[in-house]
Amino acid sequence: MNQDLAYVMISEEEIRSRVREIGLALTEEYRDREPMLLCIMKGSLVFTADLMRCLDLPCTLESITLSSYRAAATIPGDLSLTTPFEVDVSGRDVIVIEDILDTGRTLSYVMGLLKAQNPASLKLVVLLDKPSRREAAVEADVVGFTVPDEFVVGYGLDYNQKYRNLPCIGVLKPSIYS
Ligand code: 5GP
Ligand code: MG
Repeated sequence: MNQDLAYVMISEEEIRSRVREIGLALTEEYRDREPMLLCIMKGSLVFTADLMRCLDLPCTLESITLSSYRAAATIPGDLSLTTPFEVDVSGRDVIVIEDILDTGRTLSYVMGLLKAQNPASLKLVVLLDKPSRREAAVEADVVGFTVPDEFVVGYGLDYNQKYRNLPCIGVLKPSIYS
């Protein structure tokens, strides 16, 4: 599958060491609390699975599944929840875990739904941030890596549901899209 990549943007080793750093910082920050990790499926499944194992804390895990209807796989579209929003976050210390903050439309929608439930605290952790593409007013509290405006795959991120299992993050060859 690596042969479909034009280049590797972030290596497996770089991801591992940054995820460990974030885990250590969160462990320190949430000492004596029991946060709820909220994984935004499916893109942040891999990041969540690795990050939660770097948390030396009692915590619980929930997930919500979102999908955006896109004219093309690489162009943002309208969002919808594919499952009802059944997670109860009221009074909880919630850590939202997302793969990438791009236009911000996904996360401004999700953060709005969560805030309406009055959590004790709400933190947004994203693996990747593409600040150049922002449309909605949303910023992450923790960013793994700031990336340029390129469509990336791997480590949970897909193109047409594929490449999520790549251990690194990379950019596909143009021939894959045609
Ligand atoms: P938003 O534009 O709402 O911030 O991001 C919406 C979703 O688009 C992200 O959660 C992610 O699933 C997807 N997305 C945005 N940029 C990329 C990218 O470079 N690669 C992949 N695979 N998905 C992306
Ligand atoms: Mg996503």
